[in-house]
Amino acid sequence: MKLLLECRGEQPDYHIFEAAQIFGDAGLEPVIRPFSGRDRIILEENGLAAGELPLEEAAASLGSRELVKHIYTELSAMTGYVSPWGCLTGVRPAKIVNRLFSEGYGEKEALAELTGFYLVSDEKARLAVTVAAGQKPFLDEQAADPSRIGIYIGIPFCPTRCLYCSFTSNPIEKYKKSTDTYLELLHAEMEAAAELVRRKELKIESVYIGGGTPTSLSEEQFDRFINDVSRLFAGPSPYLREFSVEAGRPDSITAGKLRSMRSGGVNRISVNPQTMNDETLVLIGRKHTPEDTVRAFGLARSCGFDNINADIICGLPGEDAEAFSRTLDRVSELRPESVTVHTLSVKRAAVLRNDSRRTMLDSGITGVMVSSAFSRLTSSGMRPYYMYRQKNMVGNHENVAYCLPGHESPYNVHIMEEDQTIIAAGAGAVSKRVSPGVVKRAFNVKSVEDYIARSTEMPERKNRLFEEADGNGA
Ligand code: SF4
Repeated sequence: MKLLLECRGEQPDYHIFEAAQIFGDAGLEPVIRPFSGRDRIILEENGLAAGELPLEEAAASLGSRELVKHIYTELSAMTGYVSPWGCLTGVRPAKIVNRLFSEGYGEKEALAELTGFYLVSDEKARLAVTVAAGQKPFLDEQAADPSRIGIYIGIPFCPTRCLYCSFTSNPIEKYKKSTDTYLELLHAEMEAAAELVRRKELKIESVYIGGGTPTSLSEEQFDRFINDVSRLFAGPSPYLREFSVEAGRPDSITAGKLRSMRSGGVNRISVNPQTMNDETLVLIGRKHTPEDTVRAFGLARSCGFDNINADIICGLPGEDAEAFSRTLDRVSELRPESVTVHTLSVKRAAVLRNDSRRTMLDSGITGVMVSSAFSRLTSSGMRPYYMYRQKNMVGNHENVAYCLPGHESPYNVHIMEEDQTIIAAGAGAVSKRVSPGVVKRAFNVKSVEDYIARSTEMPERKNRLFEEADGNGA
């Protein structure tokens, strides 16, 4: 079956496209077809129209949320596909609940709105409400002092590229010659960012180093880099609560890098197994073993790290519920303070998108994995504390971070709720200036090559963002 979006312009209305995209999980990725008649969606089977949904009247008479609901309901009836998130298309379900809370809704009323209006399943609605309720203290603190900010620094290199990766990531071996140049230019961008923080009298609450895999740098490069970040951002801030490093690939973690992080003041790291099954790790191109994860956790503990996150993925190709359960067992044995459970998402930039291994993905089994992660982690004393959705997630599920009480990452909460200014540096980094009800962004260039060629533009982009957002623009 095919889902054809026939519209008179080149592109259909954004909300129509969003609503149709829900059905991508049912194998019905919408195809846009310019048309001279009246706008409509056609469900096509073997070249013949199996159903038609006229759009013009609904688009003219309904508001955007009602239009999305109308399209979802009608296509759901035609195709038999039901999404666990109903007609909710945004990437931040907890943000919707937080908005409802701010409008005076209680938890029960918010649940009723999610299940009644958005047609979200009971399980997902309860999850979103639980996450939002736990975030309230973070959001209240930020609202009381909007000068608190987060700093993000990106290192866009990894040991290899994972099959499903859609991030700014480059194999470090291939970029060996330009890594030092990248770090020098990044240093200059960080100096300018630190100056911006001072000039605007901002309070740094969190520093987050991500990528890529920052620990794919050599020990010497990494030590210098962590010292710089610590000196420019973490050290000078009396407001600092979190200094996180996405150590990511366990095979890139050494005792030397862990010591650099400890002496630089890093207080939270991520060691990401993704799966504890050897065959899957080979299949997804991670080139490390479950034993590398066990070794990295042991090393980190012996260096004194007491806040370690582990990322795992539901729905990896070739895995069944039993394989995922093995991952949960082995990760639990490591006693991480938080576990972030992702659902596999197959974005355009991922190699998996056009790879035969994509046929191995199974929405039904992925749903079982997502539910079992919730039961296992919450019964071990963790609670879900931030979440987000992405396009093209297997089974239309979500990513959820669970943690033991007191081990939340404020950076992650605020970035998902978009209530805190972020100053970001490095290739692919995005800075955000948040003022009540308005979020403005400045984008850094994505590729390492462009970054090296145009790095002086990046501080200018951030300065302009602040001047324009704060009303001092020319
Ligand atoms: S480790 Fe992360 S950033 Fe690096 S290639 Fe894999 S998914 Fe991409």
